[in-house]
Amino acid sequence: MWDASKCDLCGDCLVKCRYVDYDKERAVADIKSLIEGKDAEILSKCTTCIACNDYCPTGADPSNLIFNMQEKIGACPIVVVGKPVLELSAAALEDSAVSLEMTPGDPDKPVLSLDMFRYEDFPEGTFDSGLFSGMTVVRGHGIASLVGLVHMGGESFVEKYGQTVLDRLAGLGKPIVYLHNEGFVLAHVKARECGFKVDFEYTHLFEYLRDYLRDNRSDITRLDKKVAYQANCATRWIPEYDAFLDEIFELVGVERPRRTYERTDALCCSAPLIYTNRELAVDIQRKNFEDAVACGDDAIVTSCPVCDRVLRRPSGQFGLPKIFITDLCRIALGEKPWPEEPGI
Ligand code: SF4
Ligand code: SF4
Repeated sequence: MWDASKCDLCGDCLVKCRYVDYDKERAVADIKSLIEGKDAEILSKCTTCIACNDYCPTGADPSNLIFNMQEKIGACPIVVVGKPVLELSAAALEDSAVSLEMTPGDPDKPVLSLDMFRYEDFPEGTFDSGLFSGMTVVRGHGIASLVGLVHMGGESFVEKYGQTVLDRLAGLGKPIVYLHNEGFVLAHVKARECGFKVDFEYTHLFEYLRDYLRDNRSDITRLDKKVAYQANCATRWIPEYDAFLDEIFELVGVERPRRTYERTDALCCSAPLIYTNRELAVDIQRKNFEDAVACGDDAIVTSCPVCDRVLRRPSGQFGLPKIFITDLCRIALGEKPWPEEPGI
């Protein structure tokens, strides 16, 4: 959450932003305008990648300032394009009788939450996999992660509806495994910031997969491949969970060579730009894939269905398969083969 008392107007957040070319003077001028509640050019240029939080040396949370102002001013392209999705989400979140879509499973197992994602947003066979065998699955706009709505100008949704979503999940009376990172961030990070109660146990997908692979180590055939990783932008809130991903890679036998665009320096998947600045989106994808190819990677691993869908085109163009993280585990467990080189 933005903390003006921590901001010393150093300008680092916007000088380091990869989507504008600002010097310190320009960066400071924009941040000052936003602090004063005024419009600034960064609002229409910002891809909502959250990287500036990593660039800020004082922990002031500049992304929260920028995203709140995008929502308040309301004129920047991502807010305009995202409005219909926000309205749909708001209706489901405000409807106290909204029903969640549920596939019942073993009552002794945790519940797998898809947030608002649909079953078909995940790779074919995901829910028949041994990874999630017998688990109850729940989804719906009424349990949207909210964190992801920032890409549509909905930064305030976390504060407005976060407790509602957490209470609906608590109402299931079971531990939750989040299949998507952003639901986890709501429970683990945003709840603390906003003072929400989280009356259930919850697990991040990476920790769940790491534990599953450890428990089923004898079924793993090590893959002996090199992969790049396309991080979901909200993983910037939980950098410590990268350690679970590193363990997953180690367990399935893949190496993650150092490359230019990873961890703090990772590029946005470009999804927020597809409908607002396609030229820039394609350029970001090109840089990202050229970097992975130059590092000798055999595939690019995703952990968000939106990243996964957006990267389909460059995956074909550069002949570099993309693999969802659950599928990477399934390949190592012998549930499916390594993908063939994708065509355009
Ligand atoms: S969120 Fe990303 S695109 Fe937006 S200002 Fe911060 S670093 Fe730049
Ligand atoms: S938000 Fe952080 S990086 Fe940006 S100007 Fe303030 S202190 Fe510097």
